[in-house]
Amino acid sequence: MTAVYNFNAGPSALPKEVLQRAQAELTNFNGTGMSVMELSHRSKDYEAVHQNAIDLLKELYNIPDQYKVLFLQGGASLQFSMIPLQFLKEGTIGNYILTGSWSEKALKEAKIIGNTAIAASTKDQNYQSIPTANDFQFNKNDAYVHLTSNNTIFGTQWQDFPTIDHAPLIADMSSDILSRAVDIEKFGLIYAGAQKNLGPSGVTVAIIRDDLLEANVDQVPTVLRYKTHADSNSLYHTPPTFAIYMLNQVLTWVKEQGGVSEIEKRNKEKAKLIYDAIDESNGFYRGHAEKDARSLMNITFNLPTEDDNKKFLAKAKELGFVGLNGHRSVGGCRASTYNAVPLEACVALREYMDSYRTGHV
Ligand code: PMP
Repeated sequence: MTAVYNFNAGPSALPKEVLQRAQAELTNFNGTGMSVMELSHRSKDYEAVHQNAIDLLKELYNIPDQYKVLFLQGGASLQFSMIPLQFLKEGTIGNYILTGSWSEKALKEAKIIGNTAIAASTKDQNYQSIPTANDFQFNKNDAYVHLTSNNTIFGTQWQDFPTIDHAPLIADMSSDILSRAVDIEKFGLIYAGAQKNLGPSGVTVAIIRDDLLEANVDQVPTVLRYKTHADSNSLYHTPPTFAIYMLNQVLTWVKEQGGVSEIEKRNKEKAKLIYDAIDESNGFYRGHAEKDARSLMNITFNLPTEDDNKKFLAKAKELGFVGLNGHRSVGGCRASTYNAVPLEACVALREYMDSYRTGHV
């Protein structure tokens, strides 16, 4: 089989070394004579994996002591409901900053549960940009302010996070968690489905500040309370053990690579290759995001016509580039360059973009 360059938007590339290690111990994990999937989630062998994943994420992401790391299920989408269920009390407002389709979906769910507002939105600019602090409209009874740190579909990303004092800041970091250093203390809650930067689908990571665990608990079904999972170290019910095992492997890999600062450096280098191909194309490739809002994770662009997009994508597919289609709701092209996508894949894409433009493929 020829080389495949995986630019899928999620689920997406995993580090080769991680897959190889998982393969090597698939039928005999840690001398147990069985796979990690077949172990009890109460067993010593599994619990060590579980705890190690929590500890490693805290270490790598510099998570202060007053935060808990939780492993949840239901994807980031369930967080869209769990957040308002937990925090939206009578007389308070869930305030949302809209920067793309996923923020809209988060808001839609909150509206089912309580009162909401839009603190800022870049919808009128077709989600090409990120709002600035001057644009925010807050209310003194905001229960929280919600943002999406990286907009997977439109290819924009917050470059700096606002400091918000009047209410906890909540961030959906599904598509950029652990891709760069973040000041965790700016946030009350961070959540992310694992299937882009952290591992396979099936586990959702939440990082929550301790004082938020008590909010509204009596009105929330037990399994949907953050506190339930915090009190039981995410072993209240059967966790997705294999997904957490893979998460632990991916975190181990991040540490071996030199941690988040090294990963961030590489991510910048990778994204630059592709943005340079766009910027040096005399308008042949048109980036969707404004330059100061460009995502390091999802690079979105179009060719002059829809027909050109199709031809570019068809040829790319022939050459082994996978997942370069834009999201079905917006079309165009998108290269997702998550942590596990190697530099070589981005070099190859840059070369392909250049040679396609100059008619050399
Ligand atoms: N938020 C963002 C930013 C996403 O990119 C996605 C998935 N692509 C989701 C939420 C939804 O995640 P899930 O499929 O895990 O529910």
